[in-house]
Amino acid sequence: MNRAEELAANLAAVEARVRAACVAAGRTRSEVTVVAVSKTRPATDVVLLRDLGVHDFGENRDGEAASKAAEVDRVRWHFVGAVQTNKARRVATYADVVHSVDRQALVDALGRGAVRAGRAVDVLVQVSLDGDPRRGGVLAADVPQLTDAVAATDGLRLAGVMAVAPLGQNPADAFGRLTEVHDGVQRRHPGATTLSAGMSADLEAAVAAGANCLRVGTALFGSRTPVTR
Ligand SMILES: *Cc1c(COP(=O)(O)O)cnc(C)c1O
Repeated sequence: MNRAEELAANLAAVEARVRAACVAAGRTRSEVTVVAVSKTRPATDVVLLRDLGVHDFGENRDGEAASKAAEVDRVRWHFVGAVQTNKARRVATYADVVHSVDRQALVDALGRGAVRAGRAVDVLVQVSLDGDPRRGGVLAADVPQLTDAVAATDGLRLAGVMAVAPLGQNPADAFGRLTEVHDGVQRRHPGATTLSAGMSADLEAAVAAGANCLRVGTALFGSRTPVTR
């Protein structure tokens, strides 16, 4: 198999999983967006998947993301990793959606960057489901304050919330808590409709919990780490 065939087979397998998860949850496939997380993968892979019909791509490092965004057009770029405040201005020049906003300084910097670039950037507030701030995200109790801040910032649009399932916890429980946080956000901000949860290993649990944005890397592109560890 050449790379295009490999990616097509992976995409078909992911698509089958997402469809089955939607059927099991009584949801329609069209309400769920799959973001192909292309970090560490060459731009040629992004072009191949784009030409197979994938529209959304995710990156987690500014340098790599900026160069791919310059190289590949006609896709929507999602920034899914931790954003250093001093990189925020540049991220705002190419990212369509930033999934990982977890502090006021980052809100301010992204807003300034977006305004300067004449762009509107969609923002998801990252929620910490394990209470460990080293892994990114704000505690559920601090979500209202930060979502209000995003909504009030020029250049940014509050689009919803995002989380990564904590290691070693049942993802269904974790995503259930995220859904409750999202419900609270949507009561204050009805336009914040995006619930970004679920990766290669736990996308079924995320769809069952109501996620409408999945971030899928290894299931589409293959393992990022060598087979021998
Ligand atoms: C890498 C990454 C993903 C994709 O993870 P896979 O397990 O490869 O599907 C999703 N979300 C975030 C925040 C990531 O950093």
